[in-house]
Amino acid sequence: MTERFWETKSLSEMNQQEWEAICDGCAKCCLHKFIDDEVDERHPTEVIHEGEQVHYSSIACYLLDDKRCQCTQYDKRTELVPDCVKLTKDNLKDIFFMPPSCSYRRLYEGRGLPSWHPLLNDGKKSAMHKAGMSVRGKTVSESTIDMDDFEDYIVVWPLGDED
Ligand code: SF4
Ligand code: SF4
Repeated sequence: MTERFWETKSLSEMNQQEWEAICDGCAKCCLHKFIDDEVDERHPTEVIHEGEQVHYSSIACYLLDDKRCQCTQYDKRTELVPDCVKLTKDNLKDIFFMPPSCSYRRLYEGRGLPSWHPLLNDGKKSAMHKAGMSVRGKTVSESTIDMDDFEDYIVVWPLGDED
């Protein structure tokens, strides 16, 4: 990987290794999200339409290791969790599903990487955790709650972003 390749290449120009390295490992994309629309109020969805708003919850996918902020079944994730959003170069149009601090979204919107990003911290996630930009210590697992109570878990912290 070329040093600071994210400053010279667009997302679509990155090779697979570079693409994977852009992920900060915050695990915010492993939280359940809900959409407010005019018809149904809040409900889970895989598609967003104009005028709808994404709400984040603190409810994490049952496969998330909430301390390490890592998927426990990364290789099998799309098989075990069919609605697991795997961002690729081909579905960049879905990037609005990602939180504002998501590194792919930041680069897509021309905002660069934040100072706490692992690529700028010797590959370590500690600066990100310290900045409160990961989900560590803030989630409940979907396996431990009644999903009908999801409104009790709507939170705004996943929308936070910081340089
Ligand atoms: S929100 Fe974006 S940067 Fe954070 S873990 Fe998910 S894909 Fe990676
Ligand atoms: S399957 Fe893994 S990567 Fe996908 S949402 Fe669940 S914990 Fe996250």
